Amino acid sequence: MRVFKFGGASVKNAAAVKNVAKVLRVTGYSNLLVVVSAMGKTTNALEKIVDSYLAQDPKQKELIQNLKEYHFEIIMSLFDAKQHPVYQKTENLFNDLETTLVRNKSKQYDYIYDQVVSYGELISTVIISEYLNATGLNNEWLDAREMIKTNNSYRDAQVDWTRTQQIILDNVNKNILSVTQGFIASDQNNFTTTLGREGSDYTAGIFAYCLGANSVSIWKDVPGVLNGDPRVFENTKLLSHVSYEEAIELAFYGASVIHPKTIQPLQRKEIPLYVKSFLYPETEGTTVKKGQPLDPYMPCYIVKKNQVLVSLSSLDFSFIVEENISDIFKLFHKYHIKVDLIQNSAISFSVCLDDKFDHFEKLLKTLKAKFKVTYNTGVSLFTIRHFTDNSIVSLEKNKEILLKQITRETYQMVAKD
Ligand code: ADP
Ligand code: ASP
Ligand code: MG
Repeated sequence: MRVFKFGGASVKNAAAVKNVAKVLRVTGYSNLLVVVSAMGKTTNALEKIVDSYLAQDPKQKELIQNLKEYHFEIIMSLFDAKQHPVYQKTENLFNDLETTLVRNKSKQYDYIYDQVVSYGELISTVIISEYLNATGLNNEWLDAREMIKTNNSYRDAQVDWTRTQQIILDNVNKNILSVTQGFIASDQNNFTTTLGREGSDYTAGIFAYCLGANSVSIWKDVPGVLNGDPRVFENTKLLSHVSYEEAIELAFYGASVIHPKTIQPLQRKEIPLYVKSFLYPETEGTTVKKGQPLDPYMPCYIVKKNQVLVSLSSLDFSFIVEENISDIFKLFHKYHIKVDLIQNSAISFSVCLDDKFDHFEKLLKTLKAKFKVTYNTGVSLFTIRHFTDNSIVSLEKNKEILLKQITRETYQMVAKD
């Protein structure tokens, strides 16, 4: 069997949803599990709803109304019959969302976030599953929260692989077409959890691993994995084959076309990953599998925007030794801040950080008690895998460079935006 994943861009409007059905007809749709994300920018819109709820901002109602109108517009273009059950099902989900907010008693941001933001995927999959059924692509809708069990680290939940595998094997029929949500799961108490922003690719990896799938295809608005994000770099080229190791490195450094957690479960069972264009489903795209790092071999450019560069030095000119460094890392872990790059000298220690959960202010306060701290927010981290002299020269042109580091295969540079 195969696993497909369609992301936000591939279901952003009615024409895109129709195109998903077209892709399924082109590629075949038996023995297939389809994982779908929220439509378009719905997750961002739901994040704003969480913020307005917590700020008790009366705009919350209007934000929910806008999101509802966006989805109903899509439904109206997809379904002729006004009495089609999809209308009531979607209405019910929006009512549930509002009830969740009214009934909530928790003040814990991450928990509330997961209870609310998960509606994006629930709504999109109900619409898509109903549309596919209405157009002859009979399928079963699965609730991913019942399939994927995690701990209760809301917004960054960790999968309980043993339980998840058991439930998936017991409940997913490999012989039919199934439709489920990316990104969402549930904890031991059945509260909804999420796997981290852009985590639907990872969901596809989890199902594929548990089911022992033959392949995973993630359908994108690009021809496959390119040697740079085409929104940022010019003249990007398609990589036709990438090894699991290389794909993990590219995703880790910030090549956002694949979520970094997706590769590991696939690599463990040697399940190939195809990254393909949903606009041109017949074209080859990129295959991630065991083998040569890159084919064709060329420098790959990655940029991670909105990072924080922090330099710490001791207040009394004493060395920054292993003990301080280990305490600093404990703080990064405590505040859920990811370290992209490290550089240290006798009395100073610099790190480039990815503050995905907005905890930097709290970290800063703690660090300032012990160190002299200088920092730049909003900087970009550029990486070139398999760099050449020319690739470095062209990347550095017109940039205000704050830090640079070169290892055997990887060039990295932090620059002001
Ligand atoms: P999804 O619709 O599944 O959420 P994303 O928007 O997360 O898809 O990923 C596709 C986008 O990733 C592309 O539009 C492109 O701008 C970006 N991207 C970043 N790095 C690369 C790369 N190396 N190759 C191709 N696309 C890339
Ligand atoms: N909808 C979620 C997000 O936008 C998950 C995903 O799209 O992968 O982050
Ligand atoms: Mg996405």
